[in-house]
Amino acid sequence: MSQESPDWVTRGLPHIWQPYTQMKTAAKPLAAARAKGSRIVLADGRELIDGIASWWTACHGYNHPHIREAVVAQLDLMPHVMFGGLVHEPALTLARRLAALLPDPLERVFFSDSGSVAIEVAMKMAVQFWLNRGEAGRTRFISFKGGYHGDTFAAMAVCDPEEGMHSLFKGVMPEQIIAELPVDDARAAALEAVLARHAHEAAAILVEPLAQGAGGMLFHDTAVLRALRGAADRHGLLLIFDEIFTGFGRTGALFACEEAGVTPDILTLSKALTGGTMGLAATIASTRVFEGFLSDDPRRALMHGPTFMANPLACAAANASLDLFEREPRLKQVARIAAALEAGLEPCRDLPRVRDVRVKGAIGVVELERIADLNDLKRRFVEAGVFVRPFGNVVYLTPAFTIGEADLASLTGAIVRVLKEMARAG
Ligand SMILES: *Cc1c(COP(=O)(O)O)cnc(C)c1O
Repeated sequence: MSQESPDWVTRGLPHIWQPYTQMKTAAKPLAAARAKGSRIVLADGRELIDGIASWWTACHGYNHPHIREAVVAQLDLMPHVMFGGLVHEPALTLARRLAALLPDPLERVFFSDSGSVAIEVAMKMAVQFWLNRGEAGRTRFISFKGGYHGDTFAAMAVCDPEEGMHSLFKGVMPEQIIAELPVDDARAAALEAVLARHAHEAAAILVEPLAQGAGGMLFHDTAVLRALRGAADRHGLLLIFDEIFTGFGRTGALFACEEAGVTPDILTLSKALTGGTMGLAATIASTRVFEGFLSDDPRRALMHGPTFMANPLACAAANASLDLFEREPRLKQVARIAAALEAGLEPCRDLPRVRDVRVKGAIGVVELERIADLNDLKRRFVEAGVFVRPFGNVVYLTPAFTIGEADLASLTGAIVRVLKEMARAG
């Protein structure tokens, strides 16, 4: 594509460092020019059907006019103002709406600008909650294999040990307690033993409820979350739900905590919060956690404050995204997508080296024994006219909820065809 590459690509590429990418061997990245609905238009004119919704953020499709109008209107008034000592309408409206949507005790919203930071804030909140009660030494966290909570050091430390590259960065990160989810009696007993040993030095249990995303696209059922709530209460720990992947309908309910009927003490949101338009995240605390910081001592205040927290443009986008959840049948669309993913990916079950095919809400996963050449697989998808980004040993779809039936069929069809081709190639 070099010959048709626009000037900004050839001159800019030598100065860009891409995420999780071996820059020596990486395939040339695709140059995106525009995006609309479920389509990404490349600089060379090709149009790809998007299966990922930009790491599952663009739940209403790209460039939704309602969100764009809200951002433009806010741009006229005030693109940004600091949140220390000042508040503004988009942030206060968003906080009120989020609190109304979430289970009752989750009432206090702390804004930041990315998911990893929302997790850092949740972890700091949990540790300082205990410190404020005079319980020093509760500095560790219990989290789970297969989990993903972000790329900053504290967040990495609570990821799956392999996914979070714990051995590579040994010595830099705090060592946390990574357990297995209590999905059966044996693992429930193992978790109980871990808690008996470590609860006194731990601040909280941290989990992605119902669906673990970037750590492997793994699902568990609501009983696991009820068990974790019970365990946290028995051992006097806070429970943190990281709903950065699951929040805003991805698993079928607006929030996983709602589907499970389990209320955490702290909950994190980001990813689809602004409908995939801007960086914004929220850490939402229960009244009990919030009240743990009320004191005449200024040092007991929550010690965090990102420069661009509660950016008005991002909050306006998030409010517009919530409007769309109210006005349009998003959860019905998710149910329809789930059915189409089930049917469309079903033929993968019969392919060699396919270990599992699973669907939850608008998440479709084909797990392989292994993927020998990820770059080759990605290239084949682009040739098939779709944007799909397999990682590890999984090929997954997390499309926009507004995706059309034909586009969704093209996505699942491309996955079946490309995996068949790969199987034939050996
Ligand atoms: C993406 C993600 C994060 C990290 O968010 P960033 O905005 O990339 O820092 C944390 N937790 C979960 C569940 C995520 O999916």
